[in-house]
Amino acid sequence: MTGTTLAVERTAEQLIALEEQYGAHNYHPLDVVIARAEGAWVEDVEGRRYLDFLAAYSAVNQGHCHPAIRQAMMEQAEKVTLTSRAFRNDQLPLLYRDLHELTGYEMALPMNSGAEAVETALKAARKWGETVKGIAANEAEILVASGNFHGRTIAIVGFSSDPQYRAGFGPFAPGFRSVAFGDIAALEQAITPRTAAFLVEPIQGEAGIIVPPEGYLAKAAALCRKHDVLLIADEIQSGLGRTGRLFAYEHEGIRPDVVILGKALSGGFYPVSAVLASREVLGVFHPGDHGSTFGGNPLACAVARAALRVIEGEGLVRRSADLGAYALERLRRLEGGRVREVRGRGLWIAIELNEPARPVCEAIEERGVLCKETHATVIRIAPPLVIRREDLDWGIEQIEAVLRG
Ligand SMILES: *Cc1c(COP(=O)(O)O)cnc(C)c1O
Repeated sequence: MTGTTLAVERTAEQLIALEEQYGAHNYHPLDVVIARAEGAWVEDVEGRRYLDFLAAYSAVNQGHCHPAIRQAMMEQAEKVTLTSRAFRNDQLPLLYRDLHELTGYEMALPMNSGAEAVETALKAARKWGETVKGIAANEAEILVASGNFHGRTIAIVGFSSDPQYRAGFGPFAPGFRSVAFGDIAALEQAITPRTAAFLVEPIQGEAGIIVPPEGYLAKAAALCRKHDVLLIADEIQSGLGRTGRLFAYEHEGIRPDVVILGKALSGGFYPVSAVLASREVLGVFHPGDHGSTFGGNPLACAVARAALRVIEGEGLVRRSADLGAYALERLRRLEGGRVREVRGRGLWIAIELNEPARPVCEAIEERGVLCKETHATVIRIAPPLVIRREDLDWGIEQIEAVLRG
């Protein structure tokens, strides 16, 4: 492959054709080919601008190509990018301290993707179950919620309730049991002396921004405490400001035993994830028990530290709460007719339709706003939290125009 070939193949049509021919078809993207991005805006290869109402599934809460994160990344890239954990590096301790100071959790374990951090939390919970709670070897059970999304590894899709995520990928790992999301009686019934943990999204993102009944998480936390079960909150998408609090679990005043972070932990520059917990939980790992070649590398740590500073320094949690309340109030006026329900928390809003969402997303795209359906009938609104009020207004106007048209 020569450089000249690459340089020529760059109209949207040619790029899409290359992707379709040579890439696995595990996604069905909108046909917008993005070449640049800044803040809440992206630009395609032909120079057309779009307002981004998805924010890479909340990985770019800080906005695309945030200059402070970019600077941290470039400075670190000139020094050292990867040492592996065979040696220490001068950035990881600083990320540990920042995470501790921001969240109060005693310890952290860095990984790369969200799914890896979920796997890490599951391993920690099982080992805690055996070595601390005293569950017999290979007997520990982990409860999960119906409608969950925790990633795409074989263990994780094995306890998904979405048939497509599982079909063809079995056999699956045993030791997981699903209970109805939002149903506290179902959770109570499912807990046994073998239960090590309950893994849950405080608000289910991929399921369609499903907010559980008020009090559910608080009651779940109390049940877990009573039965010596770890409460694991997957905050990969809901965390770091998306719902108008730093973490979605704060809406119910609880403190999970384990918190899983990813996505916006890097502001979209680089995959960075982490598991936060007490010394009692993460202390179950001893050298050789678990690891990752890239996890905790100095480039990732420098990027994550800058990404966290932006969330704090720019007041993005407050912005999410304020702009989200405003947008929710306005979008709720669409209810009735084609719109079954509008719901959300912070700048994370679902518009549930009485019809398929994909053609609606395509019509909104034509007006210059990018949203993506989740499941068949839900449009998810999740712009970067740095979005300007006038841009948010303009984006909402495009959605209103399509749904009222
Ligand atoms: C995106 C997501 C994951 C998986 O993260 P990846 O980085 O895609 O592996 C896990 N849990 C939740 C709640 C998510 O939204």
